[in-house]
Amino acid sequence: MDLLNENIIHVKNKNIEYLQFKKLLQYPEIKYAYVIGLDKNFKISLEPKNDEEKIKNNLSKKSYKEICDELNIKYKNIVNTDQSHTDNIQIIKNKINNDKPDFNLYKNTDGLITNKKNIILSTINADCILLVFYDPIKKVIANVHSGWRGTIKRISVKTIEKMKEEYNCNPQDIICCMSPSIRKCHFEVDNDVYQIFKNEYKDLKNFDELAVKNNDKWNIDTIEINRTILKNAGLKKENIIDSGICSVCNKNLIHSYRGMGEEAGRATQIISLIWKWEIEMEKNMKPNKLKKGDTIGVVAPSDPIVGEKINEIKMAKNIIEKKGFKVKFSKNLFSNTNGYSSTAREKADDINDMFADKSVKMIWCAKGGENSNSVFDYLDFDLIKNNPKIICGYSDITSITNVINNKTGLVTFSGTNFKTIATDETDYSLNEVIKRFVECDLMLGNVEDKDITIKEGQAEGILIGGNLSLIYGLVCGKYAIDFQNKILFLEELGYESEPALVSNHLYYLKQNGVFDKIKGLWIGNYEHETEISLESIVLDVLGDDIEFPIIKSNYFGHTEKKTVIPIGTMARIDTSLDKKIILTENCVENIPIVKEVIDNIKSKFLKFKK
Ligand SMILES: [Zn+2]
Repeated sequence: MDLLNENIIHVKNKNIEYLQFKKLLQYPEIKYAYVIGLDKNFKISLEPKNDEEKIKNNLSKKSYKEICDELNIKYKNIVNTDQSHTDNIQIIKNKINNDKPDFNLYKNTDGLITNKKNIILSTINADCILLVFYDPIKKVIANVHSGWRGTIKRISVKTIEKMKEEYNCNPQDIICCMSPSIRKCHFEVDNDVYQIFKNEYKDLKNFDELAVKNNDKWNIDTIEINRTILKNAGLKKENIIDSGICSVCNKNLIHSYRGMGEEAGRATQIISLIWKWEIEMEKNMKPNKLKKGDTIGVVAPSDPIVGEKINEIKMAKNIIEKKGFKVKFSKNLFSNTNGYSSTAREKADDINDMFADKSVKMIWCAKGGENSNSVFDYLDFDLIKNNPKIICGYSDITSITNVINNKTGLVTFSGTNFKTIATDETDYSLNEVIKRFVECDLMLGNVEDKDITIKEGQAEGILIGGNLSLIYGLVCGKYAIDFQNKILFLEELGYESEPALVSNHLYYLKQNGVFDKIKGLWIGNYEHETEISLESIVLDVLGDDIEFPIIKSNYFGHTEKKTVIPIGTMARIDTSLDKKIILTENCVENIPIVKEVIDNIKSKFLKFKK
């Protein structure tokens, strides 16, 4: 069974099962999970008053470890409290234990707040509401247990007050997410408890809707009570996010005291802020820079290199050698086994071999075409991950660079193909390659290259993209790439791609949610004989209610001017500036010694996307 809904995702792995709020997933600097799964996690009832020895000996330690491993955070950094139905909230400035969790070291406490990185705030429940708070501006997190007694004591609002007082948080910025808990459908109380609620909350305009009489009992909506008082405390409506899940209704998946009685285990909710360098490492792995004298490996995963093109490849080789590099051709570079291209195996073998070859420092794709996606099943992603290096190409190569980035975390590049440097009339594109890979320069295009605003705004996100008709093929299915929070760059071949076909592809992206996920759109070159522009098609497809900025530049795509765009590093769009898009982090590593240290840390603590 799946608990997925508009606000949460449900992750099921072999050993661990948990929920995450989609809203919180937008912030890479926090790690969050609400662990569920009766048959897997926190099976043994964990009473809050248990001493540490008892916790050590039961299954919950294993469950805590599993969720920490899953999120790449450290078990020893957990802090929790005894959860005594109080309204006491503790600011955590430091861990108490160095080498083990701080289990139950805070007595008579039900809430924890911190702005310290790598401290994991943890709460447990079996029907009570758990509230998690995040202020993305001040970078403050809180994890709070609000059973019905806590709700009577308004611990949720007291948390906001404490965040204001201690960290100067603005309630307008604070996000609050509400865990699965007992809901109005099952939270049935006697008259005495109803009177306590009425006494505390009679001033709420909608109190009569929140407490409904049911024979001689009352059903009370503690979620709506918390939502109302949080709104009154200044939180924005859209920042109060409810899981919408009743623990009793779902007692086959979620620990529920009312559902299970004394046998019930406990679900746990954890949240932690992490260091920026951990985020950087998780999201990408940068190849080493290129130096004069290095060997560049050339592969042809698209069109076959036959006829006139063989000469052009040789001319390109001369140009590159004159620039001071060595050039190595792949085994199947000139193969045309199928009559329309080499086989998928031949192409993939060449790419794998180039990654494995220690003497090769950069892999350059010879030319575009139609079917570089044929290699996907035969690429050795583990090998690529273990031998990161620059790989560059554009047009049909879009498929390979985006899929490698998505599967391995390696930063790849959209830039000129190898053969094109021999046929281009200027050396603009070649200079961009040298600038990016050898000089580690972050400037996109030249000073005189203009960016045009199509839709105003600011955005920051990781770049992905390339040729529209290839990105189209990566929206769904086995090799789908992740568009969430990305800045998407798109270009399209003019003349061969009719405006109606461009519209078709853009509608497909729209219908499959791509434009609900991205943070910004960067349009490149498209020249059609009708003079219909790519931006006019984009605006027609997207309509008026776009929330992200759109800019347009003429220095990438099927044009003489092809800057090198990293796939997998951060960029920022700001339409109020002349230069409307900038790269905000290095895309190649230029300090090898630091890379070794980082690799070492990486191998110890971090796993990359599968
Ligand atoms: Zn229910």
